[in-house]
Amino acid sequence: MKYLIVFLVVLVGIWLWRNNRRVELRDKNQTPPRPVSGPKQATEVVACAVCAVHLPRPDAVPGKQGLYCSDAHRRQGDA
Ligand SMILES: [Zn+2]
Repeated sequence: MKYLIVFLVVLVGIWLWRNNRRVELRDKNQTPPRPVSGPKQATEVVACAVCAVHLPRPDAVPGKQGLYCSDAHRRQGDA
């Protein structure tokens, strides 16, 4: 009977140890390595056809010969 109690205590000890390990593993898996913020839209950078300055494509002025940094350079480049 005494050995049965010791056996039960050991079993409970092992069970508690395994439970702790499982919680640790779950916590490790739940920690996100990095928050995913969706597909990142990379802004395309274009060069002015006159002065070759780089600027984001939405800010560029489109002309006949290409893209320009400003309206003045567009006139200069298209002329
Ligand atoms: Zn320019």
